Amino acid sequence: MVMSNPLQRRGAAVEPREIMQEGDAGVRITWADGEICHYTAPTLRRLCPCAQCVNEWTGERMLQPREISDALQIADLQIVGRYALNFKWNDGHETGIYSFRLLREMCDKKLIAEASQRRTE
Ligand SMILES: [Zn+2]
Repeated sequence: MVMSNPLQRRGAAVEPREIMQEGDAGVRITWADGEICHYTAPTLRRLCPCAQCVNEWTGERMLQPREISDALQIADLQIVGRYALNFKWNDGHETGIYSFRLLREMCDKKLIAEASQRRTE
């Protein structure tokens, strides 16, 4: 009997094969399952999951999207352990830890597509 292994598939979906910075404000992640996602700095910054940007008790987003400039850039990018990325933005913010799971979710839910489209218009 052949059974698909959902756990394994899930693993590949949240495991980056390649992380490439694209210019000053973009990141491309190629996932182990072949999916390629493009992220732009302002969008990622607006979705920042850190305790300053999201109330950790209520889950309410404290950060207003308009507070973030469309010209925001990535100052530095580091891999945290084996599970996340830490972005340092050129507005000085650097407390956001973006787990690969979260990054993949943003891509799957098209939370980042809107901004990419806006960018190419
Ligand atoms: Zn934050």
